[in-house]
Amino acid sequence: MSAGLTYLPPSGLWMLCPPSHKLCGGTAAVAKAISHDEGYGWGQVSANEEQGQEYHRLAADKLRVRLGTQDAARTDDLQHYDAMMAERTEQYCDEVMRICRERYDSEQDVRVVIEEPFELEICDGIHCRGRADCIIYTSVTLDIIDLKSGRGALVSAYRNPQMMVYALASLDLCADADPEIRLTIIQPALNNISTASITRAELLAWRDEHLIPAARQTVEGAGSYHVGDHCRFCPARPTCRARAEQMQAYVSSVQQHALTSPKLSLDDVTGLLDGIDHYEAWARDIRRWATDDAMAGERIPGYKLVIPRNGARKFVSEQAVVDAARRAGIDPYKRVLRSPREIELQVGTMQYEEYFATLISSEACNPRLVPVSDPRPEYRPAKDDFNKEVSPNDTI
Ligand code: SF4
Repeated sequence: MSAGLTYLPPSGLWMLCPPSHKLCGGTAAVAKAISHDEGYGWGQVSANEEQGQEYHRLAADKLRVRLGTQDAARTDDLQHYDAMMAERTEQYCDEVMRICRERYDSEQDVRVVIEEPFELEICDGIHCRGRADCIIYTSVTLDIIDLKSGRGALVSAYRNPQMMVYALASLDLCADADPEIRLTIIQPALNNISTASITRAELLAWRDEHLIPAARQTVEGAGSYHVGDHCRFCPARPTCRARAEQMQAYVSSVQQHALTSPKLSLDDVTGLLDGIDHYEAWARDIRRWATDDAMAGERIPGYKLVIPRNGARKFVSEQAVVDAARRAGIDPYKRVLRSPREIELQVGTMQYEEYFATLISSEACNPRLVPVSDPRPEYRPAKDDFNKEVSPNDTI
């Protein structure tokens, strides 16, 4: 890092909760924990993060091959390479090439930048460094494209802070002072292509009103903690006081709710449900953090680590078991069909659809109760199923 400069990661966490940056231990810790779409462990690079990094590397290689700047996409050193990764990176490239062709139809000079590092000065020596997955620009248009390899939650491009930082950093690529700017997130695992337009004036207004104040507060460790859905991406989430206080407020509201009848009413249950998802996630984080600490040698007052009595049995040597089974006159192997998921991973979604889709039925999932703000369509059980009278002869 150059003397006198401060670097912030392009992820949106510090923009949403400026003091989180300091609480997490600064740029290095945050960048490590939020380096890709998934994982978000306590400083370790998880298998999901590794897979995300490999998705991005393969997607960039394939794009360069399609654009004729590279001979072949390397897969030999990818630990997580499978038919699914091959197919989803193809879907990403298809969409990027579609955007390229669309721009080429109206402008002859189309430039494509793949995984180029950028540096954006936000204000007062505070910089943001990052690497946009793909930027396509002409003299009058700017497309910022981001690959999301995860399947955890749909990601929207609309007012996406990370995408807006990439766009701000790329504004000078266009000769036109007011280019048409499009932000696109491609999330093949969820068949999600989210596109949003934004004007230069809107970008600059967001920079002045939100980005610059948040950057200053981040560097000073000032500003207010802001608890929200983004907390699940925060490395400080198990030990954050603001989050714990919100959970205490939840518990206190539950305690203050007067229960009057021996059986909880619908109102009682509704009051308990509000906030229960956040509470469950917080409880899991606390338990995992405390267990990790205990495993690292910390004493947790009142608690101890134990080894469950019945650990799963496993063979110490597979070959020795095969030899022993032969002596015992039995076949130690059994043939079992791969699961639908394993077959899809092996052959990819297209062949899976062609050869296997009609051979697979899905068990009905149990409906899940979520707040009405959830974007998924509502499931309404047929009332008749509930009201149906059961005769004594019916089999239940
Ligand atoms: S857990 Fe949430 S509120 Fe706490 S520092 Fe992280 S982002 Fe901010």
